[in-house]
Amino acid sequence: MTTLSLKEVSKRFRTVDAVTDLSLESESGELLTLLGPSGAGKTTILKLVAGLLHPTAGDIRFDGRSVLAEPPEKRRAVLMLQGPSLFPYMSAVDNAAFALLMRGTARSQARARGVEMLTRVGLPGLGDRRPSDLSGGQQQRVALARALLAEPRLLLLDEPLANLDPELRADMRHLIKQSQRRRAITTIFVTHDQEEAVEMGDRIALIFEGRLEQIGPPRDFYERPRSVRVARFFGSQNMFAGTYRGDIVATPFADLHIADGRPPEGPVVVTIRPEAVLLGHGGPANTVEGRIIESHYRGTHVAVRVAIGDIVIAASLRPDEARSFSVGDVTKVTLPPDRLWMMPGDER
Ligand code: ADP
Ligand code: MG
Repeated sequence: MTTLSLKEVSKRFRTVDAVTDLSLESESGELLTLLGPSGAGKTTILKLVAGLLHPTAGDIRFDGRSVLAEPPEKRRAVLMLQGPSLFPYMSAVDNAAFALLMRGTARSQARARGVEMLTRVGLPGLGDRRPSDLSGGQQQRVALARALLAEPRLLLLDEPLANLDPELRADMRHLIKQSQRRRAITTIFVTHDQEEAVEMGDRIALIFEGRLEQIGPPRDFYERPRSVRVARFFGSQNMFAGTYRGDIVATPFADLHIADGRPPEGPVVVTIRPEAVLLGHGGPANTVEGRIIESHYRGTHVAVRVAIGDIVIAASLRPDEARSFSVGDVTKVTLPPDRLWMMPGDER
């Protein structure tokens, strides 16, 4: 159980600012996902925490104490890097049990735990193989077994599930969460996949270009994105430029009432989740008329597109709701004030 804090951390490689003025805290026992596109600085952040890199500026603390003077092995932060990292001359089970063996656990006991963990990562019976006799995905799972068995103060996983097929990925997500919860190991899980971040993280830290763009529970990134960039990264479909004044945001298709989250007055971008858009019956505010131009069945929901003049709004209906609408229908469209969210209009 360890808290991690980064205080105004920067890392510069010659001319590249990989991480800039990054401050974040992870709570003890929390699973924090670091999310960002390729090149955002995620791997660099993990290496800084593990002690493989030294920051250009700022401080890194475990339980409030700076670890900058400590070498990697004293920090007890286990880092599972992207790509092959197994000891080639050791069997899978010895690789998995490596930390236990280093710590002086009796060999038979260490091996037994290694075998058990290999079974849990879906590799029963493969303990005696060398890494060269395993596929890439299998090697990755041995590395994951090794990280989970190390019982570190901090577990740092760098895209640990990349290259696994979807079914295995889901199993491994579950395993990581379960192992992490059971031992309450503070974990940083890196991914560039927004869905994976949402599924894994108690909280998400979204990194763009080495800077922290937004941190919070997964839901915030959908419902309260701080910027248009965040909304886009999370696949927001409905974004409309407008001008905000008082309680009203003027958009090209309507003057909309706003209930919540007031930015400074002026140019804004308004967004609403497709599942928050109501069709059919009008509401007390923000109801306009639109024409249904597309409808696609998606199993769990029906994705509908509604034209209001030149503007197209995406709505998501339950399949039973969707039965009362057909393409070409003119219908009332309601954007509930408490589901609208505004972001600054000038893109940074
Ligand atoms: P991510 O893991 O999010 O894809 P990285 O942390 O690997 O991003 O890289 C962030 C930036 O730092 C990139 O522009 C990358 O090219 C640069 N970078 C990473 N490591 C080095 C290094 N050792 N030397 C020079 N530049 C580096
Ligand atoms: Mg990386």
